[in-house]
Amino acid sequence: MQISKNKVVFIDYTLKDDDGNVIDSSQGREPLPFIQGVGNIIPGLENALEGKAVGDSLQVSIPPAEAYGERNDEMVHAVPRKMFETADDLEVGMQFQTQSEAGMQVVTVVGIEEEDVMVDANHPLAGATLNFDVAVMDIRDASEEELEHGHVHGPGGHDHGED
Ligand code: ZN
Repeated sequence: MQISKNKVVFIDYTLKDDDGNVIDSSQGREPLPFIQGVGNIIPGLENALEGKAVGDSLQVSIPPAEAYGERNDEMVHAVPRKMFETADDLEVGMQFQTQSEAGMQVVTVVGIEEEDVMVDANHPLAGATLNFDVAVMDIRDASEEELEHGHVHGPGGHDHGED
């Protein structure tokens, strides 16, 4: 079986930045499951995996445009310090989830001033080239329910609990 749209794929992976620092890895965990072709993973990785089979491994370097996009400096903005419940404990590098018009968003504190806190709403990996080592561990057909939900069920996947 080969990887194609609507297959459930299990991969082992290590993600590094351009300096060789490990950003994320499945090492020590179960392989990551996703549904091919529905946007569960970044487009560049879907493209690289299309047509691969169990046992294949690959190294792929994915530019920002096919990963989390370019950085947008306009997404760095000031928020009044009093908007933060934890105003006294703020530190550069902290991340918060906020509700925006575009849905849930993670913002990173990039500066703290007298009255304002500078936050960056770019995805933490925006502008980064992503270097993946990937091994294809398993491939199966997705169930109708999985395709309806747009995510994988079962071990390593989405758990809706017992009804
Ligand atoms: Zn589901």
